[in-house]
Amino acid sequence: MKIAVLAGDGIGREIIPQALKALRAVEPRPGAFEFREAPVGGAGLDAAGDALPPATLELAQWADAVLFGAVGDPRYDSLPPGQMPGSAIRRLRKGLNFYANLRPVKLYPELRDASTLKPEVIDGLDLLIVRELSGDVYYGTPRGPVENARGEREVVNTMRYSASEIERIGHVAFQAARGRGRRVCSVDKANVLEVMKLWREVMTEVGQQYPDVQLTHLYVDAAAMNLMRDPRQFDVIVTSNLFGDILSDQASMLTGSIGLLPSASFGQERGALYEPIHGSAPDIAGQDRANPIAAILSAAMMLRHSFRMAAEAERIEAAVGRVLASGIVTADLGAVGGRVVGTEAFGDAVAAVL
Ligand code: ATP
Ligand code: MG
Repeated sequence: MKIAVLAGDGIGREIIPQALKALRAVEPRPGAFEFREAPVGGAGLDAAGDALPPATLELAQWADAVLFGAVGDPRYDSLPPGQMPGSAIRRLRKGLNFYANLRPVKLYPELRDASTLKPEVIDGLDLLIVRELSGDVYYGTPRGPVENARGEREVVNTMRYSASEIERIGHVAFQAARGRGRRVCSVDKANVLEVMKLWREVMTEVGQQYPDVQLTHLYVDAAAMNLMRDPRQFDVIVTSNLFGDILSDQASMLTGSIGLLPSASFGQERGALYEPIHGSAPDIAGQDRANPIAAILSAAMMLRHSFRMAAEAERIEAAVGRVLASGIVTADLGAVGGRVVGTEAFGDAVAAVL
């Protein structure tokens, strides 16, 4: 099992070692996991003058799975957006032809008081956001500065989707729903945007191929409201790149912290990438304060989806729960009470349970 380890920048370098400890603790036999590390983001710029050095992309293409930390480094803030550390993850997803991003949002009962919502609104919360990853305003052309008759600065980005791009992410969502609660809510803005009218049309067509799965539609503004009002109504949410980016950060706070949520990205071909949904958090980097749970749960997702090791994945998820139940938390979860420990100590506690 070939695993590329791209820890990246900031807290990425602190949380990924904790995920590796958990993986080593459940490794079926010594050497079963072949870990190889490479620099990415600011670390890639330092090492090779490129946020995504060619050797790093090659390593990711060699691997069965990529375990990714985070990229983003304020030292490089003055670079153009396409060269900044953060560009590495978008280039990597493109380079690996990934178009689907799965973000499970599940509440650990031990953390019910850490949520921004009342415990009775979130008890038992378990939803999955399926975010389209390859299209939308993130990549649509034309983009950039355009002529302006009055000599003002004017810039465009283009929201763009083809039917086949919508269709393939639709299948990912409906198939995921079959393994869960058999309900898909497609989130769009079909009342205002032509692209989103196509989104709704195609989702409806895909849904007809899954008569056993219930399909509903919500406008993104209503979806945002309902995520706060009654998040348990959702099973699978499928949405575009931009809306998925926003809604998944919002949904993360339902569970108590952005430091809790893992994600998986994949495409048609072999290979997948697993990463926390949070960024490099320069404000707390180097202080042993970052929550490693999102990274540890990303490793568990990797075992489940890339290596069919569901039992080991569950052991890791349960071990995190056991540590939380023992009253150990990281600083971001301090509001629930308990003993606040550092990143390293939390990772050690999970490994010790395993
Ligand atoms: P990106 O552009 O990469 O998404 P971002 O600007 O959205 O990054 P993050 O790095 O995700 O920002 O951090 C947002 C806030 O959440 C920061 O204040 C950071 O300290 C906090 N945060 C992020 N991840 C964690 C974590 N694992 N543990 C604790 N706090 C975190
Ligand atoms: Mg963010």
